[in-house]
Amino acid sequence: MVTDFIPAAKPIIGAEERLAVDRVLQSGIIAQGPEVASFEKEFAEHFVCGRESVAVNSGTSGLHLGLLAAGIGPGDEVIVPSFTFAATANSVALTGATPVFVDIEPDYFTLDPASIRAAITGQTRGILPVHLYGHPFLVEEIEAIATENGLLIFEDAAQAHGASWRGRNVGTIGHFAMFSLYPTKNMTSGEGGMVACSDSETARKLRLLRNQGMETQYSNELIGFNARMTDIHAAIGRVQLNKIDAWNTKRKENADTLTAALADVAEITVPKVASGAVHVYHQYTIRVDADERDSIQRALRDEYQVGSGVYYPIPNHRLPSLSRFAPDLYLPQTERAASQVLSLPVHPSLTAADLERIVNAVTAVVRAGA
Ligand SMILES: *Cc1c(COP(=O)(O)O)cnc(C)c1O
Repeated sequence: MVTDFIPAAKPIIGAEERLAVDRVLQSGIIAQGPEVASFEKEFAEHFVCGRESVAVNSGTSGLHLGLLAAGIGPGDEVIVPSFTFAATANSVALTGATPVFVDIEPDYFTLDPASIRAAITGQTRGILPVHLYGHPFLVEEIEAIATENGLLIFEDAAQAHGASWRGRNVGTIGHFAMFSLYPTKNMTSGEGGMVACSDSETARKLRLLRNQGMETQYSNELIGFNARMTDIHAAIGRVQLNKIDAWNTKRKENADTLTAALADVAEITVPKVASGAVHVYHQYTIRVDADERDSIQRALRDEYQVGSGVYYPIPNHRLPSLSRFAPDLYLPQTERAASQVLSLPVHPSLTAADLERIVNAVTAVVRAGA
């Protein structure tokens, strides 16, 4: 019997998205225009309690420009996790500031408050924690550190549209928050990013930086980028906004199904959720034996046609691009996570039969001691 491959991630693009793009193409206004303005307002209402939001051409641009708008630059230090996508530290390094890598706590894979405290110096200006896999970071503890030390919090919410912490939406916590709209994220605009700002001055600076430093045409106030979102992309994003809540609900249901079936498998540690946290399962990430992780992944793919992902196999501070910032650093929880994590499919397109296949495959492979 031939079984279909179950991919680790699957962007969902429907007829409404195609119609919206066609509408924009027919309008003749394709670059940043009215669709972007509407998308910013609707995104802000939907996710961040109306906080002013600025659309850009990628999540990475959002972090980079957000940091520049906050005045981060050469001589400054910003505390970041090493266990994340490289865009987090890249955006700090691109401002000329130094990314300072610290460890994660083992339960939710987010920044460890004790490690943050130990890394603070006279140069530290901010903390850039990631709501990794869609689970919010430890909000009160990190806020307390920021307040005590006069630091700003910048949220990397690339993976966490719709997540919340004790009633507070992700994206309403920091000085600014970046959401990515890349195709594999919980919602997409094709490529794109949204930055939710705590104040209108930050929002204004972001708008300047995204458009050559101009608010009024040809009256350039500062040196800026072209990091604009197009109306084509915004039109896709606006349609996806209507679907994201149902998709997040489906991700949570899928995660609950996987956890119910896998929690008692001794070889696996299923994801934990902090009390009061809403996890939106950008990834459903288990831990397995480090020595067997890669062969488990291969067996799932080759024997059971089940895709999976490793996010992230190499801690950022050991990447050739970033290692110069921390040549001798050893982060034990980061190393352990990088060797053990395996993300199983959890996306909204999975059927009950798919979930059963994933559970059976994972159980069989780990028990066989792949
Ligand atoms: C995807 C991602 C980014 C970057 O977003 P892009 O839209 O791909 O530029 C940054 N941080 C994290 C944690 C991400 O997952």
